[in-house]
Amino acid sequence: MAAIYLDHASTTPVLPDVLEAMRPFWNETFANPASAHRPGQRARQALESAREFVAELLGAFPDEVVFTSGATEANNLALKGSLHGLKPARIVVSPIEHPSVSEPATWLQQEGHEVRHLAVDASGRVEPASLNQALAHPCDLLTVMLANNETGVLQPVKELVEAAGTRIAHFHCDAVQAVGKVPVDFHGLGVSTMSLSAHKFHGPRGIGALLVRRGARLRPLFLGGHQQNGVRPGTEPVVLAVGLAKALELACADLQERYTQVARVRDTFLQLLSDQAAPVVVNGSAEHSLPHILNVSFPGCPADILLMKLDLAGVACSTGSACSSGSLLPSPVLRAMGLPDSLLRTALRFSFSHLTTMEQVREASGRIVAAVAELRQVQLGSLTSSTALA
Ligand code: PMP
Repeated sequence: MAAIYLDHASTTPVLPDVLEAMRPFWNETFANPASAHRPGQRARQALESAREFVAELLGAFPDEVVFTSGATEANNLALKGSLHGLKPARIVVSPIEHPSVSEPATWLQQEGHEVRHLAVDASGRVEPASLNQALAHPCDLLTVMLANNETGVLQPVKELVEAAGTRIAHFHCDAVQAVGKVPVDFHGLGVSTMSLSAHKFHGPRGIGALLVRRGARLRPLFLGGHQQNGVRPGTEPVVLAVGLAKALELACADLQERYTQVARVRDTFLQLLSDQAAPVVVNGSAEHSLPHILNVSFPGCPADILLMKLDLAGVACSTGSACSSGSLLPSPVLRAMGLPDSLLRTALRFSFSHLTTMEQVREASGRIVAAVAELRQVQLGSLTSSTALA
């Protein structure tokens, strides 16, 4: 049985045109871009034109684009790097950030910095009103993502930047799930730093970028080289940068078309589930969500068991909250939204791309409907027998 991949928020396949654009840079134009010779200069040219492309597509200057190994590194660089020399610093974080933001924030707190959290409403959106309370004193770093990776809910980042005004020194935005899906304008948003990752929009895994506003203070995480103005030393992976730029170019060229296609697929999938696997509960704002991510609770079906059943049935999705030991922890994102336990422990994330077909979501929904019915039956049976025993 062919597996149907509904986990595009985790990662996406590299598009053939992206592979083709990268191909010469593995073993033809492969020289170190820092080398002074002509092969090195050709590699540098490719790297710098990738940087210029990324800058243009995202509303930044080329010298504001710092390539990293991915968004985990970019987020760590933004959080740890922007607090250089400040002790104790005041940090404000949204409660729905990806672990690559929330865990550095916790680490900074353990290092003696003060960390406060914003509030999030039941629809999964950060409440702008909670900003005033958090900014009773001016703060050094505020970090809010652009779109949530578990619910797809878009966050009011521009509104928060405007409301915060001069009360914050550095605004970081994790834009990983939004870049390549909706228009993103770095200067227009008004943030100090913004992270992205190529493998979320059909580019290669292993490269991302941090956009750093001119004049923003940032201490490097690594030492040992002069590359990228010393902010991120290390030999630049030209082939991956070319792949990132090509994937972003394709995503931006087809933005509206892909969005509409994904929305159609998501709507059909949800309709089928609502009709045939009721009750299903959608977690997160319908109005403000990216169509690429759908978070659904199936009351009565423990998410970890359903996830395994679906894997066996050939549907790849995610809980978005498995801890490293493999056991299921209730998602901090859904918890912050105030979900009751019955929904918190039965939530699955399905995520789509423009490559997901109607045929796939129809087939997948059939498999899910069968798995949910079976699991509810088993759960009901075990409940009845334990009541009989009691
Ligand atoms: N932030 C968000 C919102 C993400 O979804 C992810 C990937 N799951 C990351 C950061 C980390 O990105 P990377 O895999 O490039 O380290």
